[in-house]
Amino acid sequence: MNVEEIDRVAVLGAGNMGHGITEVVAIAGYDVTMRDVERELVEDGYASIEWSLEKLAEKGLVDESSETVLERIDTAVDLETAVNDADLVIEAAPERMELKREIFTDLDEFTPSESILASNTSSLSITEIASATDRPEQVVGTHFFNPPVKMDLVEVIYGAETTDETAETAHGFVESIGKTPIYVRKDVNGFVVNSVLGPFGDEAGWMVSEGLYDVREVDAAMVHQRGYPMGPFELADLTGIDIGYHVRKEAGKEVPPIVEEKVEAEELGRKTGRGYYEYEDGEASETSQADGEAVDGDGPDYEPGQGEDVDTLRIEARMINEAAKLIGNDVATAEAIDTGLRLGAGFPEGPCRRADELGLDTVLEKLESLFEEYGAERYEPADHLRKLVESGRTGEDAGAGFYDYGSGAERDYTTLTHTLEDGLLEIELDRPERLNALDQDLMDEIVNLLENADLDEVRAVTFEGAGDRAFCAGADVSGFAGIEPHEKEVTQVFETVAQFPRPTLAKVDGYCLGGGLELALACDLRVATEGSRFGFPEIDLGLIPGGGGTQRTIRMLSEARAKELVFRGEHVDAERAENWGLINRAVSEDEFDDVVEEFVDDLVSGPPIALRKAKRVMNEGRDQDLSAGLEMEAQAFGLLLGTEDASEGAAAFSENREPEFRGE
Ligand code: NAD
Repeated sequence: MNVEEIDRVAVLGAGNMGHGITEVVAIAGYDVTMRDVERELVEDGYASIEWSLEKLAEKGLVDESSETVLERIDTAVDLETAVNDADLVIEAAPERMELKREIFTDLDEFTPSESILASNTSSLSITEIASATDRPEQVVGTHFFNPPVKMDLVEVIYGAETTDETAETAHGFVESIGKTPIYVRKDVNGFVVNSVLGPFGDEAGWMVSEGLYDVREVDAAMVHQRGYPMGPFELADLTGIDIGYHVRKEAGKEVPPIVEEKVEAEELGRKTGRGYYEYEDGEASETSQADGEAVDGDGPDYEPGQGEDVDTLRIEARMINEAAKLIGNDVATAEAIDTGLRLGAGFPEGPCRRADELGLDTVLEKLESLFEEYGAERYEPADHLRKLVESGRTGEDAGAGFYDYGSGAERDYTTLTHTLEDGLLEIELDRPERLNALDQDLMDEIVNLLENADLDEVRAVTFEGAGDRAFCAGADVSGFAGIEPHEKEVTQVFETVAQFPRPTLAKVDGYCLGGGLELALACDLRVATEGSRFGFPEIDLGLIPGGGGTQRTIRMLSEARAKELVFRGEHVDAERAENWGLINRAVSEDEFDDVVEEFVDDLVSGPPIALRKAKRVMNEGRDQDLSAGLEMEAQAFGLLLGTEDASEGAAAFSENREPEFRGE
């Protein structure tokens, strides 16, 4: 079965995950039946969907009315009714192997023979679930993250017998519902995200158990120095200390004593009111008493200055080692791992990218010295990591590590994707989990890509944002420990875009704020969907736009409007942005692609030299007095008269045909 053949989906389970998956599948336009074992449970799940759809509608995040989406959702208690015409079934029942196997045996009987059967399990073996059916080749893991409505990532997991066709269909399906799939090519415990995330909490646990640091110091260091969205102990309290404990025990792994103690004391985190931190009014926890600090029960209470001497490399080296094992065992690519950790765990950048920054030799040395000191298997360096270091691929400084950093076409990009087809270079800012905010990597990669673009091939460039919420919501330097943006680096990207010798167009769909608006303004043209929002929020932070925002707007708009944008920090909708002349067109979602295509067609088929000259004399002439500008124009005009493109233009005009410009 291929993805175009999927019409009807059935979701089993109306709990936390089941109702969320049902909702996203219905929003994407599929007919879906949600099934649970009791009517009341189905109704609860349905009510949760209704509530969530209302919230999405309030925020303008769904195009259709809630009623229209709900019309595509059926509910059922009887299994056969739920699945007998389903092309794809996604099982989201409780995490128990024997229950899942029973369900899959029934599915094998009740679904059409060509249907694909998927499980949302987060920790059980897909191979073992699949073996309960007579069609293990059509069974696949589709691991959504909680809550499915918000989380972009889905791991697509191969069981031992899953065919490429099945996995590809599941992958295509995930894309069709607007999520980002990553392949997990072998059925390994924890799949990709949880495998790499394991050492985050585990190594932190060992360091605290050894008495090297306390909980707050480690959390503060990981968050404030290394840019993680949460500290390892804070995260454990949120997910439940027992969850990680059982997963590690079942995998036969040693558990740090501090984790053992918490589980024995039934201090399991938020859900019990106490874990590594306190979550209710009451006495201070043991750790905080030891520190002599008062705890008010408000949860994690570490401070930015704490933990400055924490050896964060110990934790990161172990995560990187885990990533290297996955790559070496052909479970996943570096790109898939990094995407997984960014989207699934909110990491500021993936472990492979971070390793390339740290230096793989540094990481390997750390692991070797830990292995020597403790002799524990968890520190044993992965073969793949050794091989990379031995072959000289020690990271970004060496030009290659997990990724290639050489200039030009072979270079790997981690924060953007790009394609070049028929003269159009399409650049997608690919940090949807941060609303595509510009961090140093993304800015560097845009500069690198444009500086190395082959001008014989590229006729025009478009910029857009990944995901469905933002073009680019601003600058993001928060996630990058120790990297202070300095003047030159910040403005360089905008200047590179503004001066790129081919026409550029920003395709804005969603938020376009701060640095994102500056990027759009550095482009020659801007087309936006009606729901898009523009603005410079910098003033609310006590700052001003620093990437050309004040200067470009004052030249482009009336002074009053430019100052309104910069001084008030308010958002402007697409309609007003169009009226003001900030953008070329504000169009509905439905028209967006067509309008962009019309613009792009003209740019790509236009005469490259003339477009380049036009761009240059208009950009540079704007800052000159009229006579200097006219002089520049006259010179460019004279030069263009002698080009073959100009002869071709004249010939095509007299022969009444479309010209074919070759840039000569
Ligand atoms: P949940 O307990 O909230 O919901 C499970 C639902 O399945 C319950 O309503 C239960 O009545 C129902 N159910 C039981 N037997 C069933 C059957 N035979 N057919 C249909 N429904 C049945 O659990 P959850 O958190 O939604 O987790 C479901 C699955 O998703 C598990 O495999 C879990 O590991 C996985 N998962 C959970 C999360 C998470 O954060 N909660 C994240 C990713 C994956």
